[in-house]
Amino acid sequence: MNKVFNFSAGPAALPSAVLERLKSDLPKFRDAKASVMEISHRGVDFMTLAKKAEQDLRDLMNIPDNYKVLFLQGGASQQFSMVPINLLRGKKIANYANTGHWSKKAILEGSRYCDVNICTDSTKNGFTDIEDYSTWMIDPDGAYLHYTPNETIAGLEFDYIPEVNMPLVADMSSSILSRKIDVSKFGLIYAGAQKNIGVSGLTVVIVREDLIGKVVEQQPVLFDYSTQANNDSMYNTPCTFAWYSAALVFEWLKELGGIESIAQHNKDKSRLLYKSIDQSDFYSNNVATRFRSRMNVPFFTPNPELDKMFVHDALNENLLALKGHRAIGGIRASIYNAMSMEGVEALVSFMVDFEKKSG
Ligand SMILES: *Cc1c(COP(=O)(O)O)cnc(C)c1O
Repeated sequence: MNKVFNFSAGPAALPSAVLERLKSDLPKFRDAKASVMEISHRGVDFMTLAKKAEQDLRDLMNIPDNYKVLFLQGGASQQFSMVPINLLRGKKIANYANTGHWSKKAILEGSRYCDVNICTDSTKNGFTDIEDYSTWMIDPDGAYLHYTPNETIAGLEFDYIPEVNMPLVADMSSSILSRKIDVSKFGLIYAGAQKNIGVSGLTVVIVREDLIGKVVEQQPVLFDYSTQANNDSMYNTPCTFAWYSAALVFEWLKELGGIESIAQHNKDKSRLLYKSIDQSDFYSNNVATRFRSRMNVPFFTPNPELDKMFVHDALNENLLALKGHRAIGGIRASIYNAMSMEGVEALVSFMVDFEKKSG
């Protein structure tokens, strides 16, 4: 039987070394004499783990001291609300870049709290390209600029960080820790954990300190960043298991050599996959070359029937979860940090065989 490779878009594959650690640690967490799921978050065992996880993330991303790192719940989707609630700070307008499905969700929620100025819109190119930054219509009265560095569904990824004179907010759910970024260019970064950080249930927020504590109207206490910032993300019970899983992923990344080494790995993996798509007349990907995602690679065979057959046959070869998102169909291979080069090579070799059989 072939080795199993999981191309799920999220919840996504974990590094196999992390899975092994989870398994061996499970019955008894270090000195705790109980599993990590059964101990108090305020006890010394969990507190030590939580502090180390935060420090490891700070080291990996080189997060400056004037940023808080929060370990929250509610998913990236809850951040679509928390961002305007906290960052409008009395202003009436916010800028949003619309480059795809998740941008649109953020815009929809943002519109409930302010006038959203859509400063660029990729609808007209079917979310396959990003308009030249010099043409963006950014409202200078906006409280912030929100964008999605990697659009998970269409596979559209920024290759630069917008320079703007207001807090820059990024939904990094599907690209955090995949390449080097300068955190000091951002006001706030958020990411659901289930793609590149660990298991679902945890959302990591990295926020510049001066932006928090300015919630204007009375809001639920847990929707104010300062609540968790002032309580080490333990105002209430955190998602301890997901936090622990994240800690293991951070350790794994550090052992691999940090962001620079995983970034190179991601570049190599995606290059191989796009090359094999471009070399054939059978497969296609229509995203502007410069903005092709290194994390999510959507592609198509000549027709939807063959797409379906591809996904089905791939599963029989132990290549899992290659079905494209229902919004665009086709095939999608999510190749986050945890996907090995071996996995991408297995996919590419399957693609060659499938084309021979069906082309
Ligand atoms: C998966 C994803 C989300 C949704 O995350 P939830 O944790 O399910 O709310 C939001 N934004 C992006 C870019 C994503 O990839």
